[in-house]
Formats: sequence, C-alpha cells, structure tokens
Amino acid sequence: MSFYDELVAHKLLLPTGVDGIPGRGAVFEDVMRHFDNCLTRTIRPDNPEEMHFPPAINRKVFEKAGFLKSFPHLAGSIFSFTGTETQHRELVGRLEAHQPWADLQTMTDVCLTASACYPVYPLCTGTVPEDGRLIDIWAYCFRHEPSLDPARMQMFRMRENIRIGNEETVLRWRTMWMERGVALLKSLGLPVILEAASDPFFGRVGKMLAANQKEQGLKFEVVVPIDSVEKPTAIMSFNFHREHFTSEFDIRMPDGSLAQTACLGFGMERCVLALFKVHGFDPKSWPAAVRSLLWS
Ligand code: ATP
Ligand code: ZN
Repeated sequence: MSFYDELVAHKLLLPTGVDGIPGRGAVFEDVMRHFDNCLTRTIRPDNPEEMHFPPAINRKVFEKAGFLKSFPHLAGSIFSFTGTETQHRELVGRLEAHQPWADLQTMTDVCLTASACYPVYPLCTGTVPEDGRLIDIWAYCFRHEPSLDPARMQMFRMRENIRIGNEETVLRWRTMWMERGVALLKSLGLPVILEAASDPFFGRVGKMLAANQKEQGLKFEVVVPIDSVEKPTAIMSFNFHREHFTSEFDIRMPDGSLAQTACLGFGMERCVLALFKVHGFDPKSWPAAVRSLLWS
C-alpha cells in the first residue's frame, strides 16, 4: 500500500477526486494545530508583527512580485463569469453538454496566493526602523503541481516569518533560524537534514537561475523522507531575496538605501505528514517526548 493509500485508510486524508487537493481528517488537523502552537511558542519571544491574509492576492501585487515570470506553470489566477444573460444561457448549455466553458470566463483582479509572504511586501513600502521588521504570517497557498505524492499538494498551508533589514541583520536572523528550525524538528523525532536548494524555475533559462541560486546560497531546505527515501521532501525552506522585493515595493533603510529581505517557511502539511511517516498513524502511540512537546 502506498503512503497516500495508508493515509486515506486511516482517514487522515480524505480523497476529493483531484490529485493534491485532499480533505484533512480530524486527527490530521489536531496534529497540525498542535504543531502550529509549538511554532508559536518558539516564535513568540522574537516579538514579531502578526498579519493574516485570505488565500487570494491582488493580481497587480502578484504580477509585481515576479511569480508569473519565474513559475508560470505553478500559478493560479481566478476567473469568473461577467457576461450577459445570453452568454449565461450559452454557459448553461455547454455545462449540460459537458463542453468546455473556459472562454466564457473573464480574468478577475485576484490570483491565488502562491507564497504566504507576498501580500506583506506592499504593506512595508517606506522606511523600516534601523533594526528592521519581523513579520509572522500563515496562509493557504496554491501551486498547480498535481501529484500522487501526498506531500506535493496543490493547496497547502505555509507558516512564514519574514525579516526585513540590512544584509547583516537579515543573514544573522536566517543563520539563527537554520539552527533553531533543525533543532525544533529533530526534537520532534524527525531525521532532518539541512541542504542548499533551488526553486523550480520554468524553462531552460530557469535551469541557469536555479544553479545560480544554489551556488550563491540563496535558498536552503530542511528535508526528510516522506514519500521516498531517495528523494526526501522539503518541509522547511529559507530564502534570501536580497533586494528583489524591496526594489519592487520600495522598502528602505533609514539612510535611504534599499533594505534586504529573507523569509523562512514551514510547509505545515508536510511537517504533519513527516510526523505520521516517522511515528505511525496513531498519535496516541507516539513517543512520550514528542507527545509532550506537541500536547503541552
Ligand atoms: P519543492 O522544492 O518541494 O517544490 P519549494 O522549493 O517550491 O518546494 P518553497 O517555495 O520554499 O518550496 O515553499 C516553502 C515551503 O512550502 C516548502 O519548504 C514546503 O515545505 C512547502 N511546500 C512547497 N510546495 C509544496 C507542495 N506542493 N505541497 C505541500 N507543501 C509544499
Ligand atoms: Zn516567502
């Protein structure tokens, strides 16, 4: 039985007929809630600003942030019906005849959020304090990558922290979190490894961008075997964006120079799946040390 089939058999994931869009069972959500609380306890002493956004983003911000440029194959844009009554009759006719109806929709002002941090940058336009800003955020994210691997979902939750400041502040924060993130995940019994990584940029030029990203140490991932031992899955990522977002959204230091940003993201479903993979399908039988960390 595949890991996915076992998750379904234990009612942890609920099939919906589309790969990568499963429902989540009560026990799955309970573990996620407690893991999220565990993250909150870790993050709280840093005193971050907390923000919450719906899983859709202003299309203009999405365009500006560059996701469509780098990852057109993963993006999801929202279309809706804005036609006349005649066109509506056409739509209903096509639905009844099981014919395509995409051309009867028009693009709206919103896209699906692809990374939790995107809506934050336009709100930070202007000057940040000398010691920068730290923002704590979570959101449902969409990526069009249907897969039978239960850890590669099309909609999943990302808990992110975003650090804005000068290069030294941002990199020091990232290094601190690399140690802290790995220690936290290891304390939950997960056999994680930290490694240099790259993003799945589109096309031939994308391959070069990915190689550069890896070489310059811009992205690191914490990986653990979930669906496969040979190809472990990233459950946490660290990205250093340099001035990518601050130049697009005009975010500056008090001396007028552009600020820099980095973010870290926990893939919440992937962390929960890794816990089920390592400790078994019934949280009641998980090691006492792990249970007390999560259910404290
Ligand atoms: P991957 O290399 O596995 O495609 P990524 O590099 O695209 O992941 P990021 O863009 O860094 O991932 O996203 C932050 C975190 O979100 C990842 O560390 C991962 O835990 C989670 N994540 C990314 N894509 C998915 C997905 N399709 N399903 C579930 N979680 C995901
Ligand atoms: Zn981010």
